[in-house]
Amino acid sequence: MSKKLVAGNWKLNGSLQANDQLLDASVAVPGVDMAVCVPFPYLAQAQSRLVGVALGAQNVSEYDAGAYTGEVSATMLADFGCRYVIVGHSERRALFGEDDAMVGRKALAAQRKGIVPIVCVGESLDERKAGLAMSVVGRQLAAVLEVAGADAVGRMVLAYEPVWAIGTGLSATPAQVGEVHAGLRAWLNAHGVAASGVRILYGGSVKPDNATELFAVPDVDGGLIGGASLVADDFLAICRAAVA
Ligand code: PEP
Repeated sequence: MSKKLVAGNWKLNGSLQANDQLLDASVAVPGVDMAVCVPFPYLAQAQSRLVGVALGAQNVSEYDAGAYTGEVSATMLADFGCRYVIVGHSERRALFGEDDAMVGRKALAAQRKGIVPIVCVGESLDERKAGLAMSVVGRQLAAVLEVAGADAVGRMVLAYEPVWAIGTGLSATPAQVGEVHAGLRAWLNAHGVAASGVRILYGGSVKPDNATELFAVPDVDGGLIGGASLVADDFLAICRAAVA
């Protein structure tokens, strides 16, 4: 992969006033692809202020239009210039009941409108302790593959986000990350997906002080950054660490 991708996930944070400062400070770093995934109401604001940094959303409906109160479609995201959308974040799986198949349908819905889904997979702490990390991410990916097919999966971005590392300050070690990322690439190849073209991001407590070692791990093509993406200096430092 030529350039790494670093995507910020603001989650449920922001205000018009605070965003202005953060967006203006989020300037493009040469040598790395950058994106920020903002809450829906701030898409227009972010679209108007970001320069050289791609815009993303944090969720998308599996439906394109109709009687689905509260949903936001991929067509709508495309209207605001979204290049990426996060699907299957562990918070959506755990708190909002999104299952593996729904994640696949959402990823496909985004792709049909030209938006690149960032498909999150990852195991819980109990699953890791039971030695199930790879089988869990394989099951999550298999559902996406079944819905979307190998060609489509080959055009998605994946994010390995161990649930126990998200927002906890407890990042996975480079060895743990390397093992799963290599496993994911092997899984893709074994299932007919051209894995060399798939960016696999790592997410989970990436900070300026651990980004360099995490991005140096083979098969890590960038990062999905939660908390640290809300502090411009930290986000930019992480982006600089991703420059080849
Ligand atoms: C995330 O929400 O995708 C994430 C990785 O969060 P954090 O960086 O805060 O662990």
